[in-house]
Amino acid sequence: MTDVTLIGLGPMGQAMIRTFLAHGHTVTVWNRTASRADEVVAAGAVRAASPADALAASELVILSLTDYQAMYDILGGVTSALAGKVVVNLSSDTPSRTREADAWLAGHGATLVVGGVMVPAPMVGTEHSYVFYSGPKETFLAHEPVLRLLGRPEYRGEDPILAQLYYQAQLTLFLTSLSAYLQAAALLRAEGVPVGEFLPFAVDMYDTFSPFLAGTAEELESRTYPGELSTATMMGATADHIVAANREAGVDVALPEAVKSLYDRAIAAGHGSGNWTSLWEVIRARD
Ligand code: NDP
Repeated sequence: MTDVTLIGLGPMGQAMIRTFLAHGHTVTVWNRTASRADEVVAAGAVRAASPADALAASELVILSLTDYQAMYDILGGVTSALAGKVVVNLSSDTPSRTREADAWLAGHGATLVVGGVMVPAPMVGTEHSYVFYSGPKETFLAHEPVLRLLGRPEYRGEDPILAQLYYQAQLTLFLTSLSAYLQAAALLRAEGVPVGEFLPFAVDMYDTFSPFLAGTAEELESRTYPGELSTATMMGATADHIVAANREAGVDVALPEAVKSLYDRAIAAGHGSGNWTSLWEVIRARD
């Protein structure tokens, strides 16, 4: 038996294997495209000949796959080897597919711990890395010393979907923010400003975000949006200018129009004199 089995050797899986090996753990690996294991095997990992052999090699089985469908594609033919295994799935997918996987694994005698790694491959195992987890707490705690090597564990609770929800929430922030940066850079670039000249100002703007968010939890939870410093009407006018400026420059306007639509609908619903946080009334799920 090895300490851990890792299935899925994309950039993330490879970084995890190297981290475990660096800490003296034994690691069994399997990947659909076998050649992708060559480098980590040369570095000390043990190659499993099949998914069944990979499962047999360790109690702790980590999956680092594109999505949850890949788990069924790999393990669906070897379900009899799942009994007694702890499957830590660090793959991205929807909460409903995560819940289905929890039931599917339980039906084959395995326990699912759901995870979401919040850093890119080069940062796995560094002090900057953290990973959301959810699932049975005792099972998580039993394997926490090994999992901790990947990054600071952030256990969110017993409900399996919690880690997936936190992961998708953080990626909502991440992907939307990255797109906003490209949008802003494209606006300037269309008028001849080199991206490099804008970059320090973009960094400066992102740095101001944390203080900007302070206090918003209370406003959102209480659904009161005092517009003392700025109002949705003022911000909505700015959202109009952003769309117009991007359109004039010949830049794609899908993202600015989506933002403008949030302001338009909040104002139409009577929240114009509220803070920008009143967009919560448009965005949040209906009661
Ligand atoms: P990829 O998404 O590129 O692929 C990971 C692995 O999935 C590969 O080993 C691939 O096998 C396997 N795979 C995909 N589909 C199937 C299938 N149908 N059957 C069998 N194997 C399959 O890898 P990453 O390492 O980038 O990401 C892994 C997970 O981590 C993803 O869910 C991603 O969202 C998440 N993540 C990624 C980050 C990043 O920066 N890359 C950061 C944080 C999280 P094969 O080699 O044969 O193609």
